[in-house]
Amino acid sequence: MTRKITLLITLLVFNAFMGIAQDKDPIIEAIVAEANENSQLEVLGHELMDGIGPRLVGTPQMKQAHDWAVAKYASWGIPARNEQWGEWRGWERGISHIDMVYPRVQSLRGTQLAWSPATPKKGVTAELVVLPTVTDSMAFVNWLPNVKGKLVMVSMPQPTGRPDYNWEEFATEKSFEKMKNEREAQTQAWNDNMKNMGHNSRTLPEALEKAGAVGIVGSNWSRGFGVNKIFGARTEKIPTVDLELEDYGMLYRLVESGQKPQIHIVAESKDLGAMPTFNTLAEIKGSEKPDEYVILSAHFDSWDGGTGATDNGTGTLVMMEAMRILKKAYPNPKRTILVGHWGSEEQGLNGSRAFVEDHPEIVEGVQAVFNQDNGTGRVVRISGGGFLNAYDYLGKWLHAVPKEITDEIETTFPGTPARGGSDYASFQAAGAPAFSLSSLSWSYWNYTWHTNRDTYDKIIFDDVRNNAILTAILAYMASEYPEKTSREKAVLPISDRTGEQLEWPTPRSPERKGGMN
Ligand SMILES: [Zn+2]
Repeated sequence: MTRKITLLITLLVFNAFMGIAQDKDPIIEAIVAEANENSQLEVLGHELMDGIGPRLVGTPQMKQAHDWAVAKYASWGIPARNEQWGEWRGWERGISHIDMVYPRVQSLRGTQLAWSPATPKKGVTAELVVLPTVTDSMAFVNWLPNVKGKLVMVSMPQPTGRPDYNWEEFATEKSFEKMKNEREAQTQAWNDNMKNMGHNSRTLPEALEKAGAVGIVGSNWSRGFGVNKIFGARTEKIPTVDLELEDYGMLYRLVESGQKPQIHIVAESKDLGAMPTFNTLAEIKGSEKPDEYVILSAHFDSWDGGTGATDNGTGTLVMMEAMRILKKAYPNPKRTILVGHWGSEEQGLNGSRAFVEDHPEIVEGVQAVFNQDNGTGRVVRISGGGFLNAYDYLGKWLHAVPKEITDEIETTFPGTPARGGSDYASFQAAGAPAFSLSSLSWSYWNYTWHTNRDTYDKIIFDDVRNNAILTAILAYMASEYPEKTSREKAVLPISDRTGEQLEWPTPRSPERKGGMN
């Protein structure tokens, strides 16, 4: 009995003490209050996504975004600059407009791919053709002259425009299984035929262009209602467009039934030659250890089918808002707090790789890097990234974060270093303690990641606010931490795939002159 009571009292005291320890830090209280009572997220999101729009590397909008960020930081009293690290093919998207004009008129939903060559001013009107079924590449070469003057449909027509979760909800089990089996067989046959043609999705457009096709029409469905992924064109003179599944399927069936459908494509764009590419950097100088760095990290560029709201507009907002809050609540950090808005992550982590290569002294002084880049959701996973002692310092820092935020977070220690995926990998490869703040999905992979639907309305501002608070507190704790963080690497596990022990990734050089022919 007595022992039980003592234990109970100890627990109560412990809890009370923890409660005080958490609530009494005036800086943490100020961070939380600023984030909740004076949030700038909605305004920043509107200016960036709606006002400036998508941020494809090499476009004027990308440059505009870099300048906007520098001005924003300046308005908050945080010195910022754009640092050039390379060049990229400059291009500006103009109007895309696609209509079926035969056998009847219907406006179609689609857009030109990034870097697509323009059509002539009045557009191009032509008949659509589909790829032949061939047994070998000779047969394909013999068929190729058929594309002269035609628009070629290069994607497999999907058997259903309903995502699998919709089938799962409403179909009989038997009919769902049947659809999946048929789709698998169709996909296999499509891929086999592509091999027989002697091509893949990268080489095919070029071959069709050389043979005299006047345009390429594809449909990169993203397995949800109304979503397609929009990447870059691989043609040099003729336009490449993506049509949404419904329109693509209709046209494909009309070709197969012998209706000879024709469409009219207007694709305006401008080639701008080589354009400089940048990272935007801003920093709050450290008062005691200015040469040690806490880095907030999020890539700034995007694909341009939507406005890059969740990839990586939301990561961008988290880091900007965290910096703004820190400047107010913690203006004299012990270590330097630096934010990196990287350019050209989408083409291979180029901005962050360039930064790591160009600033070895900063990488050497890294206390911690916090990167966010997988959508709008609240952070639910943090891994130690293969750093043996990360559990120690990250654990202590996370303890200072309000429980309602950390309750959602699952940690993995020591974890393994990333080999790509996002910019923290560039820092991990150089041995700097870098961590990914991983978000809850909110249907990221199918619905927003690189799609035509990655837009402002998909942002969950409460979750982004949660992430800005988390990031600001982690940055504060990392900056104040008495010691420099350990970089000791864990012994990595044996790979299931190769049976060999995994090795630590090594730094890679960026592409500094990209997209040029
Ligand atoms: Zn991203």
